[in-house]
Amino acid sequence: MSRVIVVGAGVVGLSCAVRLLEGGHHVDIVARDLPLETTSSVAAAIWYPYRAFPFERVTGWSATAYTEFARLAADEPDEADVGVRMVEGTQLHRERTADPWWMSAVPGLTRVTTMAEPYVDGWSFVTPLIEMPVYLRWLTSRVEGLGGTITRMALNGLPDQADVVVNASGLGARLMAEDPSVVPVRGQVVYVEQVGLDRWWLDGDGPTYIVPRSKDIVVGGTDEEGEWSRTPDPRTAAHILDRAAHLVPELRSARVIRHKVGLRPARGQVRLEEVGVDGTRIVHCYGHGGAGVTLSWGCADEVAEIVGRR
Ligand SMILES: Cc1cc2nc3c(=O)[nH]c(=O)nc-3n(C[C@H](O)[C@H](O)[C@H](O)COP(=O)(O)OP(=O)(O)OC[C@H]3O[C@@H](n4cnc5c(N)ncnc54)[C@H](O)[C@@H]3O)c2cc1C
Repeated sequence: MSRVIVVGAGVVGLSCAVRLLEGGHHVDIVARDLPLETTSSVAAAIWYPYRAFPFERVTGWSATAYTEFARLAADEPDEADVGVRMVEGTQLHRERTADPWWMSAVPGLTRVTTMAEPYVDGWSFVTPLIEMPVYLRWLTSRVEGLGGTITRMALNGLPDQADVVVNASGLGARLMAEDPSVVPVRGQVVYVEQVGLDRWWLDGDGPTYIVPRSKDIVVGGTDEEGEWSRTPDPRTAAHILDRAAHLVPELRSARVIRHKVGLRPARGQVRLEEVGVDGTRIVHCYGHGGAGVTLSWGCADEVAEIVGRR
């Protein structure tokens, strides 16, 4: 069994740490931002493969995570503890659209036949909704319960005092892996009060998404590549709510609770591979774009499999 340092305490680092600890490895997480301060805590979060590549690997990782989230929703005794629910919802399109490339990862996706203008096409399916503050707390307690640790520390390079280092630093991989191909894709969201919504909605235009949670609703969004500002823009928020109200008119009068912005760590392809640096095994796992939650368990399984090879 190996001594492993995981760099990063977002959904990717925590999920990798859980799988490695379950495999019997000694794991310590080091991170500049603790779980509730990460980009992961801003995710809506709906299981949906978005802005992550390549298609084939993303479909496989997504399918694994779908199954694991469905298991957590069914097996965890209290939904309020884990924050995962299986919820049906609808994605609508303004023009005829081919089946989604990730369709094989989702059981039971069906075409919608009746819809209001301007929509002409769409599909419905049941998917995991993950309430990130709750879920990140659950992942943290799982790491600690299995004997792992989480230490706050801003690094200026990957550590070299371990058998294996897992680099799950998200956008931080620009520095940690000297990889300028990881770029921010800014996402702004508005949280509004729960108005009794129990389905999710998506419209690729915008993009627009509406994700109901236990006490509020996350309404998004934006995807601005190369934009680093984490300051919410009031005009963007108004535009987001206006677009969303076309899908769910009750949102027009819903009370706004707060605004948030996160920077998705996007890359031409997710980087998940082992490299050797001066005798230390480095397993890179970053660049999950708009789908870090959706890919989390699939990538964590693969990282654990790579670490266990020797
Ligand atoms: C508005 C919005 C909505 C989203 N909605 C969804 C969704 O519905 N579904 C979905 O699947 N995904 C969604 N995403 C995408 C998802 O949030 C990301 O893909 C995911 O959070 C990436 O996780 P990560 O663990 O790789 O990175 P992060 O959560 O960013 O974590 C990176 C970790 O690395 C640490 N780190 C970085 N640099 C250093 C350093 N120098 N030293 C030490 N530590 C360092 C950080 O402190 C942090 O702990 C959304 C994103 C946004 C912004």
